[in-house]
Amino acid sequence: MTIQWFPGHMTKARRQIEDKLKLIDVAIELIDARLPLSSRNPMIDDILRDKPKLIILNKADLADPEATRKWLAHFKEQGFVAHPVDASTGKGVKEIPEQVKTLLKEKLERQIAKGMNPRPMRALIVGIPNVGKSTLINKMAGRNIAATGDRPGVTKGQQWIKTGGNLELLDTPGILWPKFEDQEVGYRLAVTGAIKEEILNVEDIAFFAVKYLLRDYSERFSERFGIEKLPAADTDNPDDIVAVLEAVGRKRGCLISGGRVDLEKASRTLLHELRAGKLGSYTLEMP
Ligand code: GDP
Repeated sequence: MTIQWFPGHMTKARRQIEDKLKLIDVAIELIDARLPLSSRNPMIDDILRDKPKLIILNKADLADPEATRKWLAHFKEQGFVAHPVDASTGKGVKEIPEQVKTLLKEKLERQIAKGMNPRPMRALIVGIPNVGKSTLINKMAGRNIAATGDRPGVTKGQQWIKTGGNLELLDTPGILWPKFEDQEVGYRLAVTGAIKEEILNVEDIAFFAVKYLLRDYSERFSERFGIEKLPAADTDNPDDIVAVLEAVGRKRGCLISGGRVDLEKASRTLLHELRAGKLGSYTLEMP
């Protein structure tokens, strides 16, 4: 397992977010609804300290709806406000200002009680790469915002983006790093395509995909690949999982001379079909 963020990167990313905290009323944390744990940095709450936070389960269109319901209940139990969104079509986006308003209710009421006219609520979007931050910003802005990025040495005033609903967003999102505490976090991210395949071995990624799919979606899996009886049901046995991957390869004609299965090709085919939604919506971790 070679995925690593250099400690220097982490410190810089952390500082960039901390610098922005004083400008905002609320943080909007984006996580991937298919992997709500692996796609969040566990240090986020430490970084945000007591800043109010809205959790967005993005890419909800790709996730198992039943699992998303469980995750929403889970976050609620933990005292968080969480909301499912599909930023690419905009489903769930228009409710965000209202959710933020609820989070900031007391603050807004205090301002009104003091005779102040509440200024627009200000938010920072944070999340790991590829979770959909830019897509959401563009959706909320109703137009395409050029990705500016933070450049060292360039002093640039913060740009606020109006979203309607009395909510403004910082134009540059806060970028967090995923935390590869155990190797499965990296593989879960790789299965969804959140991290580049070149970093990890494609056969290993497919191995984990098969393992997760057999555990929770075995019926759909056998249907898709026309494997009537799965050669393995034991998701803890690596040999069984490889046997399933081989069966997939045979079904898809991924063969090399001598009739053996080309595992690399089988792996690419499987991941391609999974990411193209051919196996339906899925969630890789449950609360
Ligand atoms: P960022 O790195 O966090 O800014 O992520 P992007 O906004 O660039 O999104 C990464 C990829 O995910 C892009 O291909 C988006 O089209 C896609 N994407 C973002 N949000 C959603 C969503 O809610 N559903 C689906 N299906 N795809 C999404």
